[in-house]
This record gives sequence, structure tokens and C-alpha cells, in this order.
Amino acid sequence: MNFNTKLLHGRAVKTYTDGATLPPVSQVNAFRFESARQQEAVFRHRAMGFAYTRVGNPTVVAFEQRINELEGGAGAIACSSGMAALTLALLGLLQAGDEIIAGSSLYGGSIGLLDDLKHFGIKTRFVRHMEPEEIEPLINEKTRLIFGEVIGNPGLDVMDIQKAAQTAHAHGLPLIADSTTATPRLVRPLSLGADIVIHSSSKYINGGGNAISGVIIDGGSFSWDFDRFPALSAFSRYGPMAYQVRLRTDLGENLGGCLAPANAFMNIVGMETLGIRMERICENAARLAGTLSQLPGIYDVNYPGLKTSPYKELLDRQMGGLGGGILTFRAGSKEKAYQIMDNLRYAVIASNIGDVRTLVIHPHSTLFINNTQEQRENAGVYEDTVRISCGLEDADDLIEDFTQAIEKSRRVI
Ligand SMILES: *Cc1c(COP(=O)(O)O)cnc(C)c1O
Repeated sequence: MNFNTKLLHGRAVKTYTDGATLPPVSQVNAFRFESARQQEAVFRHRAMGFAYTRVGNPTVVAFEQRINELEGGAGAIACSSGMAALTLALLGLLQAGDEIIAGSSLYGGSIGLLDDLKHFGIKTRFVRHMEPEEIEPLINEKTRLIFGEVIGNPGLDVMDIQKAAQTAHAHGLPLIADSTTATPRLVRPLSLGADIVIHSSSKYINGGGNAISGVIIDGGSFSWDFDRFPALSAFSRYGPMAYQVRLRTDLGENLGGCLAPANAFMNIVGMETLGIRMERICENAARLAGTLSQLPGIYDVNYPGLKTSPYKELLDRQMGGLGGGILTFRAGSKEKAYQIMDNLRYAVIASNIGDVRTLVIHPHSTLFINNTQEQRENAGVYEDTVRISCGLEDADDLIEDFTQAIEKSRRVI
């Protein structure tokens, strides 16, 4: 089955009560039992069933199964946000004294979380590129995992997943890939050796900008060393599934960042069009990037799908040539960047990506307001940088809109 067919006819797509083609929204906190004995069995994980929505909910499970199938995982755990998913994914493995190696062109919030973890005794060492030559010298006896974004937001560096996974595995470490901006339409990181995939499903997976959520997909193939990951040792009888069992039955429940059933439903509805949306969004981004890079007064158009991008060859090999929906450019000054943004007719000024409509933002004064200068530059964020998240409009209209906005801004000194 190809991708778009799988979205609608995969194993995880079921028929529900009365022949409904989408699952009902089980908008309840608690589930009723026929007997106290049956309730005990579910609490002991000896019987299938739902007890309490923070622990499990049928609408949320329906979403988890669909994204798990698309990524080719062994199990998925949905969370209340992408940040909740990243927090759970990391804390599921780490304890004070441990170290992470992470790419530096990460989502600003993720860099912020890694900074927060310092106060819990967990240190992150950053590499500018997710390349073996940069990663290997930083690995020591305290390193526990390697983390990077498949397409960095907003730096737009592309990770060679196979190479990063080989480097991690050579040292007995798992690779966690944030694939938010790539989505399974572009690449399935687990199939290239990543061990754990996370998404902010608030973005392309939901697709309509109408529900915050995140998800962790576990490949279930990493051979956990329980001396190195003592937090998993209580789950050692599950072997390679120990990680996801801990997340599902222990830490995930206790941290409490569960996905709301109504948001899981919105994600399922949105996901069914993920393939065609991504195809359209990537085409729009590629065309817009091509046009912007020709316009006078616009500098450093960054889009991994451009022929001039150092990532073009990797993109063709790893992602079927699709470069994602985000591009950035520099306007020459903050004032000009603001002018261009204010002059746009269709693109909306909003701090999100992966919406149906095209969005723009000035990351330096918003998303990266709390980051250091070095962190900003590593993420390709300068005073005059504008980030565009392409939507589903007609490319000709987007091109015309940006062209007129840029022309108007030229009149500004
Ligand atoms: C948005 C985003 C996150 C955080 O997700 P939320 O759903 O906003 O919590 C994490 N990683 C990347 C790459 C993102 O774009």
C-alpha cells in the first residue's frame, strides 16, 4: 500500500460502532466496569480495557495506532503537546549525571527544555551538525542518547538519519529523532535506524492548526542495557519493549501530560489528508524558495530543496526530493523584515507551522527571544530572518503576494 492509501485503508484504520468511519470521541474521564474483579484485572494490566483517560482512552489509542502504523513503529504514546512528548521521551531514559548529545539547530523550545534539564543534573552537549565527526568526540561514559531534528526548525539542517544512527549504535546509544517538520510522508526515521521518533503533532499531522499534541513512536528494536538505563530495569522482562512499557504504564501516567480525546479526534481527521497536504506544501515551498532567491534585496534563502542547498543530495536520497514546508530568508534589516510581513495579504503572522494557511514569523523577536546569540545563529536566526511555513494556497498567489510585499518594502530605507 502506498502512503495516501495507507492513511485511509491501513491496518490501524478501523470501522467503529454503527459503521462509523471515524472513532467516537470518548469524552470521559473514567470508564465503568461490570465488576470490581474486572476493574482489578485492568489495573493489574491483566485484561484489556480502559479505566481513566490519563492512563488510556479509546480515541487516543485510535490516533496512536494510526501514527504508529505510518512510522512503522512498535508502539506510540500520545501526549498533550510536542514539548510534553519530548519531555517524556527524554525523562523515560535519563537520570541525574547523564548526558545528551543534540544538534544545535533545534526548535527553540527544545533547546529551552535541554537547558531546564541542567537543573536536574542532565547535561547536553551540542553539535553544530549531526555528523559522526562532530558527535564522536563528545561521547563519553555518561552519554545516554543522541537527539536531533530530521529537518531542523527553523535552521533547516537535514540529518542523515542512517549515519547518525550508525554513530549512536556503535556506542550503544539510542537515536531519538524529532520528525515534526518531515512527517512520515517524507521519511520514516525508524526504517533508517532511528530508535525513537517524536512529533509535535500540533503541526503537519493535525494539519489544520486546531489542536496541540505530541507523540512518541518507539521502534521497539533497541537492545536496552539495563545497567546503563537503570530507570528501565524494573521493566527488563519486556526486553526491547521496556522503554515503551515504562512510558505507558509508569512515567507517562505519572507525569500526566495525556492527550485530550477531542484533540486525538482532530488529529485523526487531519491525518487522513497528510499525504496530499505535504505534497502540495512541499511544492509551494519549493516554488516560493525558487522565486525568493531571484528577488533583489532578499538574502540567504534557506530551503533544503533548493539546488544550491548543501542538503539537496541527502534530500533526494532520504526524502524522495521533498524539502518540507518551511523556508527562511533574510530581508537586510529587522525593519524590512517587519515591512514585508506587514505587507503580506495572504500569509498570516502567527507562531505555528504546518497549518493549512501560510504563516510567517520573525523568529529573532519571538520564538528565540529567550535564547542566546549563539543559539540563535546556530538555528540560522538573525535580526532580519523571516520564517515562512507554507500552506495550501495556490503557489502563484503566494509568489505574487510575497513579490508585492517585498517590492513595497524596498521603499523603506
Ligand atoms: C512545535 C515544535 C515542537 C513543540 O511542539 P508543541 O506541540 O508546540 O509543544 C517540538 N519540535 C518541533 C520541531 C516543533 O516544530
